[in-house]
Order: sequence, then C-alpha cells, then structure tokens
Amino acid sequence: MILTTDFAWHDLELAEPFGISRGTTTVSENLVVRVEDDAGNRGIGGAAPADYYSPSREAITDALPDLLAAVADCDPHNRQRIARRLADAAGSPTAHPGARAAISIALADLAAKRVDLPLYRHLGLDPDRPITSSFTVGIDDTDRMAERAARAAETYPILKLKLGTDRDRAIVRAVRDRVPDATIRVDANGAWDADEAVAMSAFLDDHGVEFVEQPVPADDLAGLARVSEAGPLPVAADESCVGPGDIPRVAEAADIAVLKLTKSGGIWPVLRMCHAARACGLDVMLGCMTETNASIAAAAHLTPLADYADLDGSLLLADDTFEGIEMPGGEIDLSRVERPGTGARRVGAPSRPR
Ligand SMILES: [Mg+2]
Repeated sequence: MILTTDFAWHDLELAEPFGISRGTTTVSENLVVRVEDDAGNRGIGGAAPADYYSPSREAITDALPDLLAAVADCDPHNRQRIARRLADAAGSPTAHPGARAAISIALADLAAKRVDLPLYRHLGLDPDRPITSSFTVGIDDTDRMAERAARAAETYPILKLKLGTDRDRAIVRAVRDRVPDATIRVDANGAWDADEAVAMSAFLDDHGVEFVEQPVPADDLAGLARVSEAGPLPVAADESCVGPGDIPRVAEAADIAVLKLTKSGGIWPVLRMCHAARACGLDVMLGCMTETNASIAAAAHLTPLADYADLDGSLLLADDTFEGIEMPGGEIDLSRVERPGTGARRVGAPSRPR
C-alpha cells in the first residue's frame, strides 16, 4: 500500500498567555500530519513539539519528508513497524519525538477508520471508567491566577496550578481561598531544589493539594526521590520521564509517570511506557502540551490506561481549528464516543468523513 502524506504548521493563539517556570507563551505551534490510503480513507495527527523536547521548527520541517517517506509503504495497522521505521529515519529512538508523534497518530487514526472503529476500541481498551482531566492555570500575577482559578472551577473540578515563582505560597493561599472545594494539583516544572521542594510538599499538603509534579530539575533524580520520601505528597515525574528507559529510574524516585504523545514520540512508545510504568509500580498520568485536538483526541483514547488525565491542551487555545473528544467539565467518557479513528477533524468538516 502506498500512502499519500503531507504536513502543515498551525500556529494557534492561546486564550490567555500561558506561564510556566521556564517562560510564558502566547501561541501554540502545532504540526499537523495528514495521511490517505489508496481507498481514500484519511488520518490526521498532530503534535506541538515544544523546544524543550524537540529540535527547532526548521529542523523538524527539514526532517519531515524523510520521516513521512519512511512510512509511506507501511500497513497502517502495523504499529510496531511504523514506530521502528520512524525511529530509524529520525536517527535514534529518541530523536524528533514531536514529528514521530504526529505521524504515528495520523496512521493510528487512519488504521482505526479503515475498520470503522473508534481508536480506543481498535486498541482493545475498556471505556468503563470515565476520567476527569485537570484544567491548567498558568503562572501570572497572583490575583489574576486566583481569579482565573475561580472562573475555571465553575466548570472544571480539577485544577493544575503552575508554580515556580518567588511567591508560590502566596499564589497557593490566594487560589485555595477562592476555590475551597476544587481538587488542586501543582506543577513546578523543575523550578525548586530538593530542600525547597520538601518544604513546599508539606505546605501544599496543608492546603489540600493532591500531588506535586516535577518539583526539581529533570536530571535530579536523587532530589526527586528525596521529595517523595521526605515530603507528604505523591510526586509525579514529567520532564524526568521522557523515554521507556527512564521508567525504571523514575520508579525509584517518584509515584506517578507523566506520559505525553508529543514528548515520547507517539502511541507505540507511550503504550510501552505505560505498561513499563505499571510493572514498576508507578501510577500513570496522561498529559499534553498546549496543543490542538489533532493530537489531544488521540491521547483521550488512551485514558483507560491512566489513573490521572491532564489533557486540557485544546481547552487553553483561543480557537482550536480541530474538534476532538468532548470533555464537559473535563470528563472524558469514551463509552459515548462513536466516531471512528481519534475523532479529530477540522472544525466545520462533514460529520462522517471517511
Ligand atoms: Mg508538567
């Protein structure tokens, strides 16, 4: 089979500037890949290859023709070969994770559409337990964060608060004051040292926070372990947990593995990491970048494998150009999903595309 492939970049404005400890962004740069088989079935896949995990947009654009050519004669159902071809074409199993994610999602969407099944059913996953995604409140002026949290909590019962400033405690107090009943998770994106993080874990516990994500820098696994042991809150590893080889190390140092399609190169690597994480005793959170439904929809289909979901990427965009899986109040209920494939489609596209 010969697949037709193409790609485009979609620069999407965020609804509000999105601040994390490393900086603030206002635009989400999304790679969108399309594939089509000789019967006219189409697949769509996306990724927002953040600079932190992927090379520059120019380098990705330069590499894409070779990556797409590597899978152009693949059976879209042969996920294993697709993952191997992409890793070989990228030059290593960890190179170009965003591009590999977008391509593998497009092929998974196509494969599921060819047999007229939603992706989760094509993967054999059980939709019996809906999961509720968190909604992220980025770093900003303290009052504005509290205001944003209060507004978000009217719709979303679980909030994720970005921290890593010199006023983290004031932010937590101000937010908790406004949302006494919301579940709050905290993500420091590696901003604290281990001593600071242990103290923050106790402070956050006192304020009813559920867990803390990436309290210390990515390569400080000893620090991560210390926060897990000395602090009262469970610890989630995100930047420390990029490829399958990171799972056993992270399992020694944390409680939850944060898995993302864009970060780890797509569906096959994430499935491997998910099963490895379970075997090592880690819980799993499926996360995302600020990115379009072309990629978020695929991640939503993997939620039966997760204990936590942080799939609000599209909700943070001003106007997503793609529709995906409905998540009212953040709830992802796959038992209601009937559209074949990932369910991602251009806004305004016909309701039952091939
Ligand atoms: Mg994170």
